[in-house]
Parts: sequence; structure tokens; C-alpha cells
Amino acid sequence: MTRGTSVAARIHRSTIIVDTHADTPQRFVDEQFDLADPLNGGHVNLESIRKSHLGAEFFSIWVPPKRFKGQYARRTLELIDSVHRQVARHSGNVILATSPSGIEEAHRTHKFAALMGIEGGHSIENSLALLRQYYALGVRYMTLTWANSNDWADSSGDIHNPRVRHTRRGLTAFGEQVVLEMNRLGMMVDISHVSDRTFYRALKVSRAPVIASHSGARALCDHPRNMTDDMLRAVGKCGGPGSKGGVAQVNFFSGFVSQEYYDAWKALKPKVDKVVAERQARAKAGGRELTSARRERIERCFADTIPRPPLSALIDHIDHIAQVAGVGHVGLGSDFDGVGGQLPEGLDSAADLPKITAALLDRGYSTEDCRRILGGNLLRVFREVGAVSRTVHAESRSV
Ligand SMILES: [Zn+2]
Repeated sequence: MTRGTSVAARIHRSTIIVDTHADTPQRFVDEQFDLADPLNGGHVNLESIRKSHLGAEFFSIWVPPKRFKGQYARRTLELIDSVHRQVARHSGNVILATSPSGIEEAHRTHKFAALMGIEGGHSIENSLALLRQYYALGVRYMTLTWANSNDWADSSGDIHNPRVRHTRRGLTAFGEQVVLEMNRLGMMVDISHVSDRTFYRALKVSRAPVIASHSGARALCDHPRNMTDDMLRAVGKCGGPGSKGGVAQVNFFSGFVSQEYYDAWKALKPKVDKVVAERQARAKAGGRELTSARRERIERCFADTIPRPPLSALIDHIDHIAQVAGVGHVGLGSDFDGVGGQLPEGLDSAADLPKITAALLDRGYSTEDCRRILGGNLLRVFREVGAVSRTVHAESRSV
């Protein structure tokens, strides 16, 4: 046990720790997973939350665009419902939080704050009314796109695909309205997953600072899902005059953390695709479809053969963003339950979060810096987004 480990334990007992991305709602709906269950291959449950003193989790409301074509709103509502039901079922330990003060209240009363963020603007089906209703149900951020471009914003996942129609400026006029409506509502604008052009456009349009709910540094792992140093600096400075800037929450996925891991996966990919195609053909011949769960299992088998990156590789991303954007502009966006089990060494569930804190302390980060990275920065941005919302409301009353 290093000095860092015992100090980290103390910090975790007293700090509000916020993680901005976990895909657990997929498990709630598809596997009838309950937060009181054993992890059973997942990353987040009540026990792991208790062990690390995780204070707040933004549960991701993610609708796979192909699988739910034509049913985006329905699936979005089912996922939101699953979070509400977990909160109701565990009301002694969990509350639904929709504001920074809600998170603080949970911390004071020793409860866990469940929040929600929508991952992918396709969920709103091009309707500001849907966006408003999701807000009313408690959603407090929206990632403008997932890996698929939608009618009004472009994704890093298909920006080079000539068969996909893209916007001219990163956001269409409607896309700009979406961002402004999010500002008005007090919903955080999340730029993880978007194309670089959409990123810059969103920062220009948004009156409030933005977040990257689960992205790393491209200088360390050259993946389009990660952010260049210029983008990181821009996040640090965004939000307009008087703003203290946004925050980049580091993704733990091995493929975004480590260049070696990412290169190894790219080398494996043709083989993976071949096996998937064979299984698909076999399923089709038998009059069936290859389910996405089956496909994920195949991918996971291959991914599991790649050595896990060391935990230090993840700390490097936090360190890098702190250097480039400032220690006030970095946080944690684990992507727990959304990465096919591919996490750096030593990180097996939410229970292992104190290891990150210990590593930061060992690198010379102060207790105060750690508190900011673990949640303080996100809370500040969340508060500022609320203040911008109040300003916009006041303006509309005065005209
Ligand atoms: Zn994602």
C-alpha cells in the first residue's frame, strides 16, 4: 500500500465523485439487471459504488441506431424508465438527481445520485418537443451524436463515409436550434463522438460551456473519438465571456487509452469481420439473424487476446488534459458497461476508482486537484449550465 492508497481512501470518503458515462441501462432493460445484483461481468452495481464512494453516475441513454430504426423515442423512453425503476426500487440508497444541488444532497444523506444523459441526438427524432420531454423526465446532458451522424450533426464515426449525408458546417440550422434549446433548458451539451467540425460549430453556438462526457486525448491515442490538443484547449475556454470553461471527462476504454491496444485491435479487425460474416451467413442459412449480443461476444473473444494497457496509460490522459487544458477542465467518464470489458489493468469495476486517485497522488497531484478531477470540475460546469439557463429565461421574459 503506497501513501497514495491510504490518502485516496480518505479522499473518496469525503469527496463528491462523479462519473459521466455508464451504459448500465442496457443491462437494466435487456438483462433485467438490478443494481443490487452481483456484477456478473459488468462494472457498476451498488456494492462497487459503495466500495469506491462513487457519488453520482450519469447513466447513458443510448439507442443503437440500426437495431431500433423507427423506434428511437420508444427505446429512449424504455431506457429512461429503467433508470427511474432502479431509483424507485432502491429508494433507501439511490436518488434521481437532476441538478448539482441534487448531487450534493445525495452526498449529504449518504445516498448515490443517479443521473441520465442521452447518447446520440437521433433520440430526439428531429423534434425539440421530444428534447424538452426528455429534459422533463430528468435527462441532463445529450451527446449530439453517437457513432452515427444524424440529420443535424455529424459524427466522427462516419464522417469519412461518402455514403452518409453530412452537414455543411457541422450543424444544420436546426442543429444550432437544438444546442440553443439545450442551453435554455439547462441540459449540458456533450461533444463526445461528434466530428471535429461539429465540435467547433457546437462550441461557437453554445452559450454555456460544453462537456465531453467520455473522450480522451488524441495526442496519446490517435483515435477519432479522442480530442486534439487544440480541441482540449477550446473546451477549457468555451462558454463565452465570464465562463470558466468546459470539461473533458476521460474515457477508460482500452482502445481510446492506448495506441498499442488500438493498433492491435485494428490489426485483428479483418479477422473479426471475417468470422462475423461467416456466422452471419450461417445464421441466415438457418433462417435466423446474428444478434448484436452474439456479435459482441465474438468481438470480445478477439479483444480479450490483446494485453490490457497499464493503469498508468489512463492516468497519462488525465495528466495530459490537465497540462493542455488545465486541471480545472478534466474529469472521469468511464464508459463502464459499454466497452466490451476492455479496460486497463486493475480497473475491473467502479470499486477500483480509488486506484486512479492514488495514481494521481503518486504523480504529485494535490488533494484539491484530485477533488476537482473526481467531480468538482463537472459540478462547476453543471452549475454554470444552470446559470446560463436562468439567464436565457430572464431574457425571454424581458422581451
Ligand atoms: Zn459512447
